[in-house]
Amino acid sequence: MSDRELSPESIVVSSGRPPIESDAGLNIDISMNATRHAGGPIGYGRYGNENWTALETAIGALEGGRTLVFSSGIAAISAVYSLLPIGSVVTASHQGYSGVMTLLKNLEANGRIEVRFVDVANTNEVLDSLPGSSLLWLESPTNPMLDIADLPTLISSAKSAGIGVGVDNTFATPLNQNPLSMGADIVMHSVTKFISGHSDILMGSLSTNDPALFTRLEDARKFNGAIAGSFESWLALRGLRTLSVRLERGESNTLELAKRLSAHPAVSRVRYPGLVSDPHHNLAKSFMKGFGAVFSFELKDGAKMADALCSSSVLISHATSLGGVETLWERRRRWSGESASVPESLIRVSVGCENIEDLWSDIEQAFKNAG
Ligand SMILES: *Cc1c(COP(=O)(O)O)cnc(C)c1O
Repeated sequence: MSDRELSPESIVVSSGRPPIESDAGLNIDISMNATRHAGGPIGYGRYGNENWTALETAIGALEGGRTLVFSSGIAAISAVYSLLPIGSVVTASHQGYSGVMTLLKNLEANGRIEVRFVDVANTNEVLDSLPGSSLLWLESPTNPMLDIADLPTLISSAKSAGIGVGVDNTFATPLNQNPLSMGADIVMHSVTKFISGHSDILMGSLSTNDPALFTRLEDARKFNGAIAGSFESWLALRGLRTLSVRLERGESNTLELAKRLSAHPAVSRVRYPGLVSDPHHNLAKSFMKGFGAVFSFELKDGAKMADALCSSSVLISHATSLGGVETLWERRRRWSGESASVPESLIRVSVGCENIEDLWSDIEQAFKNAG
């Protein structure tokens, strides 16, 4: 092979495989061991595992940093926040992933941190909140509004002020943007979503290229104990192998559905940075390679119609979560933890790999049956 650096589409297929030896498997075996004979670098099941390492190698190669996997996305985020000294000030999105907002509000209610919730799409609002913050926690595109934060500007401003930056890269995936290369300290994934891709496991990851921070996060995993299972790690790596083809189909389906719904008489607004008409399209295009496979839309008729629509689909599952091969939709405000700034009728769609005309005809029949 030439010296050419592998493209991400090849890394997802080839990274994290066992060494090449006669009769060695192409895939890593599932290691089910809590303890090991003495004298090796792992020693005990909470300290390390071949299946974690294989998956970490692959995610690390994609994000450009050393990686740790955790039992869930929230467990990964909790490890980050467990490092903050009591009373630290955090600037975070006011309408990020609702589980993260709940975690931050609980930490604040317990007197552990102070949170400044900001609109991450409003660059000046974020910059104004930075003085005195010790961590800027970003998410872009945001959930469920699909807003775009100006990551290059925000990351470099925070870093030049000496503020730590973490980016939840779940929606974009490592194929569409790599915040470490923009200067972020930590990139986080809910591996549950696009990376594993089949709605069957929960896992999370953190990547960093700061060796001291890596060690502290690894200690947080060891001693807070939010470790991933071997089988889950094996499944996540198996899922990752097809990330680029899943995403390619998901993104082309998303753009087509977003376009068709933009022209639908019952729809008042479609949010997807991949639409040329989207207010964030140019900003997104300036640093993202693709726009992901999640979009949202609002209905002229409000929440009741949105609930009726979501429960009238057949091929599309009425369910929460995202990033799997199957298309899901839900009205986000059905969750009490969802931000009040999210419109009542907003439906978030995670677009899978089905045939586009099958998806569209399911949406059309759902409108007919709901109306
Ligand atoms: C799902 C999700 C999380 C939380 O991850 P879990 O794996 O469910 O713990 C965090 N951030 C975003 C953007 C998510 O979509």
